Amino acid sequence: MKKSLIITALIIVLSSCATKKEIISYTNSTEISYYDCFTGNTMRFDFHHAGNSTEEMYYFDKVIREGAWAGSEVSLINPFDYGEQMFRIIDSATGNVIYKNNYCTLFNEWQTTPEATIKERSFPESVIFPEPKENFIIEFYARNKTSKIWEKKYTQEVDVKSYHIVPGKKLYESKDIHIGGNIANSLDIVLLPDGFTSTEKDKFIDACQMWCDALFRYSPFSENRHRINIRAVWAPSKEKGIDKPGAGKWVDNLLDTHFYTFDSERYQMTEEFQKVRDIASCAPYESIFILTNTDKYGGGGIYNFYGLGSAGNTGRTGEVYVHEFGHSLMGLGDEYIELGNTVSALYPEGKEPWEANLTRFVKFEGKWEKDIAEETPVPTPIVPGSTEKDWVIGAYEGGGYLEKGIYRGWPECMMKALTDFCPICQKAIVKYLDYICK
Ligand SMILES: [Zn+2]
Repeated sequence: MKKSLIITALIIVLSSCATKKEIISYTNSTEISYYDCFTGNTMRFDFHHAGNSTEEMYYFDKVIREGAWAGSEVSLINPFDYGEQMFRIIDSATGNVIYKNNYCTLFNEWQTTPEATIKERSFPESVIFPEPKENFIIEFYARNKTSKIWEKKYTQEVDVKSYHIVPGKKLYESKDIHIGGNIANSLDIVLLPDGFTSTEKDKFIDACQMWCDALFRYSPFSENRHRINIRAVWAPSKEKGIDKPGAGKWVDNLLDTHFYTFDSERYQMTEEFQKVRDIASCAPYESIFILTNTDKYGGGGIYNFYGLGSAGNTGRTGEVYVHEFGHSLMGLGDEYIELGNTVSALYPEGKEPWEANLTRFVKFEGKWEKDIAEETPVPTPIVPGSTEKDWVIGAYEGGGYLEKGIYRGWPECMMKALTDFCPICQKAIVKYLDYICK
C-alpha cells in the first residue's frame, strides 16, 4: 500500500503515526464534564480506510465542523464492547480520554471477501464526536482478526484553531417525522433518500412515515417512542432508482447506492459514506438509515455506520427496515443459519462473538446466561411442534450463518426470521437505549 495515496492539508496535523499491535485499555475513569470539554457542535473526521484481507491503513482526509451535537452529554465513553472498530478522543494537554465510540464499516466486511485476498482497496470513512474546545488526539483501533483483541492502528493530533477545519454545509431541508423528546436525551435517527427525483418528495415522506410506523410496531421500540426522534432530509437525485450492476443498470443517484455489493444480488449498500454524512448532517442525528427508491427486495445494516432498505418493496419492507436497523443501531447479529455452512471468518471457533445476541460459550457470563432457568438444558433443544408459548430462554444451536457451534437465546427473532425481537435482543436494545438517552 502506497503511503502517498492521500497527503493533504497537513497543516491541520500536528503529528501523526501508525502504530500496530499495541494492546490497550480502552476506558478511562476520569469524570468528563461535557460543558468544560466540548463546544456543543459536532466534529467530523474524514479519512480513507485501505488495505487487504490482513492489512489496514488509515489516510487522513479532512476535519469538518458541523451543527449541534445530537448525542448524549453524559454518555461519552461507549461501554459496550461491540464492533470491529473503535476510536477515542484524548485531550492533548491532560491525556484524558474525553470520548469513545465503537462501530463497524463496509471495509471490515470487504476484508472477509475473496477479493480482499488478491486486491487492495480503499473506502471513504468518517466518524463524528462532540467538538472539543481544546486540541485533541484521535486514535483508531481495530480488532485483531484472530485474537479479536483491540490494536491501535492510527493516531493524529488536531489543532482546533486550524483554518483548515471545514465549515459544514446544510444543503437540504429536514422534516420531523416523529419527535419523542429533546435531542440530548433521545436517540436521533435521520432518514435519507436515494434515487428519488425532485418530483417524488411526497413518495419519500410517505416511505419515512412507513419506516417510523414499522419501527414502532415492534417491542421494545414501541414502548420507547418517547425517547426516539426521527427526522427526514429531503435530498433528491437526478435520476430515479438505484444501481443494479449485475443487471447492467446504472443511474445518477445522489448517494450511489447499489445492489450486488460484494457480488450478493440483494445486498444494497453504498461505498460513499462521506457523501452519506454530508446529507445526514442537515439534521441532528446519531443513527442513519437510507431509503432507496426501488421495489427490489434487499437492504443492509452496519453497526454505527448506516442501515439501508428498499422503499418500494410491497412484501416485507417494514420488517426488513427494522431488521437492518437492529444491525445499524447496535450491531445485533443475524440469528439465521445458512444450511451447510460450517466455517465463518466472522465467527471463528473459540472466540466469543461481540454481538449481544450470539454466543460460542466463551464469554457467555456477560450475556444472557444468568437469564436461563436452572432446569433448562444447555444447549437447549426445540421440542418438535412447540410454539412461542412453550419456549423458554435457553441456548439454541445455530446462528451467525452457522449451523453448529454458535448459539442464540430463543427459537425465533426479528434477527432470524423477521418476527418479533426475541427476549435477548429486546433486553439488549433497552440497555443500549438507556445508555444513548442518558
Ligand atoms: Zn434476537
